Parts: sequence; structure tokens; C-alpha cells
Amino acid sequence: MQTRKPVIGIPANVFVDEHGSFPGSERAQVNQDYIDCLVRAGALPLLLPLTADPADLQGQLALLDGLLFSGGVDLDPLNYGEEHARELGTVYPGMDQHQLPLARLGRAAGLPMLGICRGMQLLNVAFGGTLHQDLGGACQQHVQAGWRHAPSHTVDLLEGTRLQRLFGQASLVTNSFHHQAVKDLAPGFRISARARDGVIEGIECIECIDAPDGFVLGVQWHPEGMALKYPDMLLPFQALVQACLGQGGGLG
Ligand code: MN
Repeated sequence: MQTRKPVIGIPANVFVDEHGSFPGSERAQVNQDYIDCLVRAGALPLLLPLTADPADLQGQLALLDGLLFSGGVDLDPLNYGEEHARELGTVYPGMDQHQLPLARLGRAAGLPMLGICRGMQLLNVAFGGTLHQDLGGACQQHVQAGWRHAPSHTVDLLEGTRLQRLFGQASLVTNSFHHQAVKDLAPGFRISARARDGVIEGIECIECIDAPDGFVLGVQWHPEGMALKYPDMLLPFQALVQACLGQGGGLG
């Protein structure tokens, strides 16, 4: 008997294409790396177009066994009670209005969720945390100039966390493409990884991650950009898929 692959939704980014035949066109898109990693981990990825309609959010959720929140533009700081700092990058409030409720509904439904870069920051904000709008000059480089697969800084994995158990190492060397970071941690979460300058590089939901099949985990680096050269970077995707399989086949 063939086991059904877990369906993992990836909320689409909005990309405004200024080139080609239709300049200014808005495209719903996800970088192929995320899709490739989910497929390699045994999942069936499903791209989720933007909606803020409550019934359609529930409709999307009903199709899914898990969620992957990808990298993307900055979150709108108004979502965590702050005005826009001068250093804030591009925001696209429609993406927040799709993804924040999806994360809350997903957690309420016990759906395994993985957040990468913006996706980790989104999980933190969705559950009551805040962000540094710009890391500025006080820390080491977190927007690397090198290739996306190139490791650029050390990340220490904290003892006793799910992330540390997953990798089975005390530290990793990761890529880094973020100018924002988690500031105040969301209640119910714990920090699982830090860069050497103290910047938070991993978070996980304590009550979710300690449940038998629970899984709400965020990483600040881009494992999907490294996984072809560094096989361990597939581990977060494999863990997400395993957690989905543990649910026994979909939310339905
Ligand atoms: Mn970093």
C-alpha cells in the first residue's frame, strides 16, 4: 500500500516583475529551492495564493498536512505595534494578512510548521513577538555577499532544544541573508540557536515541539539554499515531513 505524501502548503510571495512583456505585473511565486527540498524530503508541496478571506483561509488549511513559511520581504512592523523605522525594507501587507492568520490557524489545528528567514520572523510575530527592524552596525555581517549556498557565520545550537537534537551538533556554519531578526520572543517559544553576536537564529514553540507529533520551528538562515551541497541542511524539511506523517494523514 502506498502512503499518501504529506501536502505542505507554501504561502506565495508577491513578486513585482518590472521586466518582460508585462512590467509591473504581480506574480505569486516561491523560490524553487523550497519546493525541491520538500520534494526530496517526501512531501507534496502546494503553493498557496494570497487571500485574507476567513473562509478561504480555512479552505486552504483543510487541504494541508503542514505549512512552510518561506523567506521574503520584511514584515510590516505595525503588526507588532511599531512604526516604520527608516531602515525598514519593502513590506507587502497583503502577504502578512495572509500568512499571520494562517500561522495562527495552523497552530490551533496542530499543523506542523517550519519557518525560514522571514518565515521564522513571521511565526514569532504571529504569536506575540517583535523584531529588530534593522540589525545595523553593532553586529557581525548577516547579509552575506557570497553565493546562497556559501556558509558565512557560526550558529550555536542550544542544548536541550529540538533543533540541537535534529542536527546532533553543538554548532553549524550557515549562510545568512537577513537584515532583521527576532527581538522579543513570542510567549510559549524558546530560542534554539544564536549567532556569535547574540542574534537569534532559531526558535521553536515549546508546547508544540514537546508534543508527540508537534512541530513549530523556525530558522533564520536558508537551509534550502545549502541543501544540495550540504546534505544535513535537508534535515529541517525531513523533520517537518516526519511530523506531518505522525499526524496520520491530514487535517481533512
Ligand atoms: Mn544570520
